[in-house]
Amino acid sequence: MKKTIFFDIDGVLYSSGEILPGAVEAFNSVQNKFNAVLLSNSVRKTKQEYCKQFLSDGFKVDVSQFCSVLDSAKRFLSGEAKDKKVCFFCREKVKKEFEKEGFSFVELQECDMVLLAFYPDMTWNNMNKVFQAVFLGAELVLIEGDKWGLAENGKVLGPGSIAGMIDNVCGCGFRVIGKPSKQFFENALKQFNAKPGHSVMVGDNYAVDIVGAANVGMKTIFVRSDVPQTFFGNPPSATVESAAEIKKVAEKMFVK
Ligand SMILES: [Mg+2]
Repeated sequence: MKKTIFFDIDGVLYSSGEILPGAVEAFNSVQNKFNAVLLSNSVRKTKQEYCKQFLSDGFKVDVSQFCSVLDSAKRFLSGEAKDKKVCFFCREKVKKEFEKEGFSFVELQECDMVLLAFYPDMTWNNMNKVFQAVFLGAELVLIEGDKWGLAENGKVLGPGSIAGMIDNVCGCGFRVIGKPSKQFFENALKQFNAKPGHSVMVGDNYAVDIVGAANVGMKTIFVRSDVPQTFFGNPPSATVESAAEIKKVAEKMFVK
């Protein structure tokens, strides 16, 4: 049975939209021996948009190899949240994609659940409105738990930071649908017919990629970047300086 490598995209294969050195060769070459899946928390692009970009950059990939957090969000909304009145904070393009598929959302004052995705245009005023809704009892759910992300104008606060701040005030707690939630990694394994012990997650974010994958029993490869990380709990199974080293390290992991 072929083992599976799950790749995070930003920080592993790309950085600020630029391909990282050796990433294309590394991704293409692992596919002789491994199944390769692209597992991103990003809601900035659809799977089709990602695939188009990857193909034009020289990656040998098919749209079926992308695992999107947006699919998890749709599963969540049509499953356990199907009776909720949801207010969705995300880019307009993302919301339209959901609405095209029949999902509907309400305004903040009518909601009993606030769904937060990466939203670079989040204003102080909007954050306050989310706080008010949560304070009155709305449930807070994040599509991605990242504390920050990259936007066109540089680093911006992510849903994880905003939810952390509101939780700090209200003690409301919040849940995350995407990485690092257990549910997200379990669904990804199921979707690609992969066993945790036969799978590796490659990521540059310790708290989101490495801890999340390790929690479901996957092996992990941490790609070092210039972003400061706080380590806690178990260390990654291996650490590399760039994508170019992934194949060799992954092969070693599965040699008995
Ligand atoms: Mg990353």
